[in-house]
Amino acid sequence: MTRSETMSKVRSKDTKPEVLVRSTLHAAGFRFRLHRRDLPGTPDIVLPKYRAVVEVRGCFWHGHPGCGRAPKSNLEFWEPKLKRNRARDIENERLLKDLEWRILVIWECAISSPKRLSPQDLSRKMSQWLQSDLAAHELGGDDCRAVGSRGG
Ligand SMILES: [Zn+2]
Repeated sequence: MTRSETMSKVRSKDTKPEVLVRSTLHAAGFRFRLHRRDLPGTPDIVLPKYRAVVEVRGCFWHGHPGCGRAPKSNLEFWEPKLKRNRARDIENERLLKDLEWRILVIWECAISSPKRLSPQDLSRKMSQWLQSDLAAHELGGDDCRAVGSRGG
């Protein structure tokens, strides 16, 4: 086991997709800060130079629209919980926008699913967005309907 594998076992807060996004950004030359508590929702990854926040979201827990990972049974149990998560995400995005931060949501299926983006595509798409003027953007796996800005 390498040292970094040991480390990732220790820090359960750092999910595997998030670690992959971080190492991809780092390899592309971007510098960032982690889990900034002074921003709404304590965003995972913050790039002050680009006034940008990158959030890695689990498709199930955060209700990725059009993604095959939504719950299919026990809906009366799951739906209120997932609805609350979704409402919290939308509220945090609104607060971040009010503070003039840009937001990139990277869904888990873009990182770990049969339809995930290649490492090159992930790196290219993140770089393009960071260097653009786009306020909000989302990246999902190839099987998920592309969802752009939700407006507002
Ligand atoms: Zn998804």
